[in-house]
Amino acid sequence: MSQKVAVVTGGNKGIGFEIVKGLCQKFDGVVYLTARDVDRGSRAVEELKKEGLDPKFHQLDICDQQSLNTFKKHLEDNYGGLDILVNNAAIAFKVVLFQMASTEPFSVQAEQTIHVNYTSLLETCHILFPLLKPHARVVNVSSSAGHLSRIPGESLKQKLANPSLTEEELTTLMNDFVQAAKNGNHSEQGWPNSAYSVSKVGVSALSFLQQRAFDKDTREDLVVNAVHPGYVKTDMSSQKGNLTPEEGADAPLFCALLAPYVQSPRGEYVWWNRKVVDW
Ligand code: NDP
Repeated sequence: MSQKVAVVTGGNKGIGFEIVKGLCQKFDGVVYLTARDVDRGSRAVEELKKEGLDPKFHQLDICDQQSLNTFKKHLEDNYGGLDILVNNAAIAFKVVLFQMASTEPFSVQAEQTIHVNYTSLLETCHILFPLLKPHARVVNVSSSAGHLSRIPGESLKQKLANPSLTEEELTTLMNDFVQAAKNGNHSEQGWPNSAYSVSKVGVSALSFLQQRAFDKDTREDLVVNAVHPGYVKTDMSSQKGNLTPEEGADAPLFCALLAPYVQSPRGEYVWWNRKVVDW
């Protein structure tokens, strides 16, 4: 029961895969590569096994409450807790900048992107946070697109940056964006034209308020950070980007493996070069 455990969501490819690999090499405990698709996840685990590493696999679709609860029970029954949680799984509709821009209406993109990147990440936290042990580390993979400056509206910016913003208020703001996208007036309300940006701004803001809750938690020394992994060559970026997935995994790994009682980064916004950036 005393074995330490690390979990990475969306671990079957891209940055998540490299985070799993790095944890297998550096973390003294069991590492779970999770994926929504069992075949893709099992294949990824086999690839790492060929390299002499030993990750475990469990199915996990962050958008599926039953899948989350099944995984929670598995962790509870087998390890009694959780030491590292890397919320890496996310989606991004292709933008015009890349070939093959997505053709879905903006309202659909907004709804789906917020659902996966913000709401389901939050649900993952709701279900798995009760398992966190003292000194646990949580990494919420955000983006440079999750910087507050991506929000054009001044009053929205103020609300998002309010140090007493609650989780409920933040979730309401994310839902307001989806509704405005459906009504076609999101720009007038001060939102950007990128649903991905809004979702990642949500992930950043969420991380800061989660740390405030952790600081009051009876479990000692819980730390969560929002991380921008850099512009990384993966399927999400259509294999563009200046960093390899391994390089993109560096900052998330750094934040997952922070020493006990670390002072900083702690509830902060960390970039690919491990530097804390003012949000
Ligand atoms: P990829 O598209 O390569 O990988 C995304 C991963 O998330 C895949 O494993 C995918 O699984 C998984 N995923 C998507 N939806 C779900 C779900 N509902 N449940 C479980 N897993 C899911 O992207 P990257 O590796 O590039 O991105 C990793 C993280 O880094 C993301 O949070 C992204 O926003 C962030 N990021 C990436 C940047 C880049 O330049 N690449 C820049 C800034 C941030 P499946 O294979 O089944 O689709």
